[in-house]
Amino acid sequence: MRVDRVTGAVRVTLPQRAPVAEVDRALLRHRRWIAARLSEAAATRAQVEARGDRLTVWGEELRLVEEPGRQRVHRRGDDLLLPPGKPDALERWLRGQARARLTPLTEAAAATLGRPLARVSIGDAKTRWGSCTAKATITYSYRLVLAPVWVAEAIVWHEACHLAELNHSSRFWSLLNRHEPRTDEARAWLRANGATLVLPRALG
Ligand SMILES: [Zn+2]
Repeated sequence: MRVDRVTGAVRVTLPQRAPVAEVDRALLRHRRWIAARLSEAAATRAQVEARGDRLTVWGEELRLVEEPGRQRVHRRGDDLLLPPGKPDALERWLRGQARARLTPLTEAAAATLGRPLARVSIGDAKTRWGSCTAKATITYSYRLVLAPVWVAEAIVWHEACHLAELNHSSRFWSLLNRHEPRTDEARAWLRANGATLVLPRALG
């Protein structure tokens, strides 16, 4: 059972041969949980709608402007010029922004910790802001670009500390808190606001 955090679309997943009536039963069984998620989604949607044609990128509010004839996204002052009819162009540009800023930050954190870093990659997860593998690859969600810079920096430190401790042990948390004292605030910020870190098209 999933409720989209912006549109409120409810998805029920059942085993292949489950009777259709099972959908009703599942909805009934989880109705309180669904109602709570729907009201959260309505609040998130209202926030995203209130932004209108504005998008905050690394803490700077930019205006999204479609410009006929344009092939690629281009920032001019506080305007972000978008190519018409290319719905993926904005996400691609944001991924580039994420890579350009998060890669050197991660490299610097890894160097401070004295740990090898294999590579930094950028994904599009909605709730998993970063991850780190045993092979020292760190992946971030490009959506961090839409969060305040200090929140993104806290995620960088979180993942970099996994290069030393690939777990959430007390050793991991004490290492992280030593390097990034705003960890708890950043987690709280993402819990409260993470669902709003979406592009206008998420409104459907
Ligand atoms: Zn972690």
